[in-house]
Amino acid sequence: MRTLSLLIIGTVFLGAFATASLAAANDASSASPTGSPVTGLPAASPAGEDERFRRHADQVLEELWRLMPEFAFRVGRYDYANRLTVPNQAYRAATLTFYERQLAVLATFDSAQLSASNRVDRILLQNAFESRSWHLETFKDWEWQPSVYNVGGSFGRMLTTEYAPLDARLRHVLARLDYVPAYYAAARASVANPTLEHTQLALLQNKGALDVFGDDLVRKVAASGLAEDEKAAFMVRLAAAKAATSGFIDWLSALESKLKTDGARSFRIGKPLYEQKFSYDIQSGFTTEQLYQRARSEKAKLHDQMEKLAQGLWPKYLRDVPRPANRLDLIRAVIDELSKHHTTRETFVDTVRKQIPELEAFVRTHDLVEQDASRPLVVRETPTYMRGFAGASISAPGPFDPQANTYYNVSPLDKFTPEQAESYLREYNDWMLQILNIHEAVPGHYTQLVHANKSKSPIKTIFGNGSMIEGWAVFGEKVMLDAGYGNNSPEMWLIWMKWNLRSVANTILDYEIQTQGLERDAAIALMTHEAFQQETEASEKWRRATLSQVQLTSYFNGYAEITALRDEHRVRLGKDFSIRKFNDQFLSYGSAPVKFIREMM
Ligand code: ZN
Ligand code: ZN
Repeated sequence: MRTLSLLIIGTVFLGAFATASLAAANDASSASPTGSPVTGLPAASPAGEDERFRRHADQVLEELWRLMPEFAFRVGRYDYANRLTVPNQAYRAATLTFYERQLAVLATFDSAQLSASNRVDRILLQNAFESRSWHLETFKDWEWQPSVYNVGGSFGRMLTTEYAPLDARLRHVLARLDYVPAYYAAARASVANPTLEHTQLALLQNKGALDVFGDDLVRKVAASGLAEDEKAAFMVRLAAAKAATSGFIDWLSALESKLKTDGARSFRIGKPLYEQKFSYDIQSGFTTEQLYQRARSEKAKLHDQMEKLAQGLWPKYLRDVPRPANRLDLIRAVIDELSKHHTTRETFVDTVRKQIPELEAFVRTHDLVEQDASRPLVVRETPTYMRGFAGASISAPGPFDPQANTYYNVSPLDKFTPEQAESYLREYNDWMLQILNIHEAVPGHYTQLVHANKSKSPIKTIFGNGSMIEGWAVFGEKVMLDAGYGNNSPEMWLIWMKWNLRSVANTILDYEIQTQGLERDAAIALMTHEAFQQETEASEKWRRATLSQVQLTSYFNGYAEITALRDEHRVRLGKDFSIRKFNDQFLSYGSAPVKFIREMM
């Protein structure tokens, strides 16, 4: 998963880009002058359509940063770090006007006269603005998802991102704190007819926001170079911000009780909204129905292959046990046996930390994709304001601050009961944990984002396609195993297929839950019986499926598209095909939708 950082990518988190764009829309606030200079139609110039487009694109971004300081911060533009947007009706109206104006300008460019790269950028911008307009006017997540309101993330990032000396950052925090009461007042005024699930998520995450305003921050301020009057003002505003946050939490608690008694809006969005969201968020060549059918046939294929592997492994692990007649039971029995090989809750985070250099060495030795030693990955425990959604995620710096740290957020298991921890550890057994690290880190999300940030076009990174990003991470797992990672052992392949089945099941689940009313019990049965998941993982996934829509299809969709593209190149180039060249070239276009990368390659 990705997280929200910059782009949090990750499980959900990258959901990062999609999430980042939505969050940005939500972050928006009235702090920025709504009367910012209007980008008029750029004048045509003899230098041609490409130059006119580049100039326009730069201008659009500058305007966007002014309008959305939090979004700017996530992508590494810190010019407006002292502002917090207040998400009120006036702000939403201003952003909508901005999108409409930008769409009108984009329509004046003649695609036929643009280079392939600029053509893609134009499409990405157009999709981003249409998508955000649709979210504001039609989807209205700002109304029914109270979880979009949370200042913890943006304050947390300011304190952990060393974009300026600490004193300067604390002054930015001081300026932003002033807006927090207005922020939460606007949040309360905006929420209407919410779901119970998003209300509960908002509660959890806003409690995490209180941690950001806790004693650590007070100590930092006391030890800083701020003047005495600044320190005093800081404490006053901090108290007000904490009170506003606590007030929002109390309000959410009361709302939660009321929703439990009176009933709440369903988290299921239904087929028409689902199809629209799929077209904006995934930008796939498939329709929702086609992808769903593809996932169902992939599930059958994986079951066939897994049966063969499980038969082969049976004598090694379960020699004296009679083989079950049902193949799903047989596969399950072998996976259960393998799952007993796992790390401990105390060493979980350290185990992850130790594996990263090993993965980097394998990629280097087997010449799979370019790596950049100057951009190391920092493994850390997931900050509390980010917990509650996914177990592991990448927070990557944006294109304007490529030297900032990339974090691999790993949630420690200390909140789990012993039973929950055991279940989680079995899911992330010795083989699966390696696959998770490949997916999140090397050569998955982390490696891809390092490449994406080198793209000459920040638009491809900023408005990146979540399905390409997730698809790459899944594809990267297969690249490693195809190169012999894990000694080509049937254990590694079987566990990988189980993992891959998760992407496939995600696609089936998301579609059936959101459009066909699939209930919790049936969903859990699909995950545990047909996709061999542990109970903890399955119930976490159910929760996530109630909180997001469409994003769960992005893994399988992207994987299927990239694999098809790789196969085309392999056939065309024959023995001249090089996976290293393919991978480097594929990653050189930024996080564009796969169908556009295909055109460019
Ligand atoms: Zn991922
Ligand atoms: Zn155990």
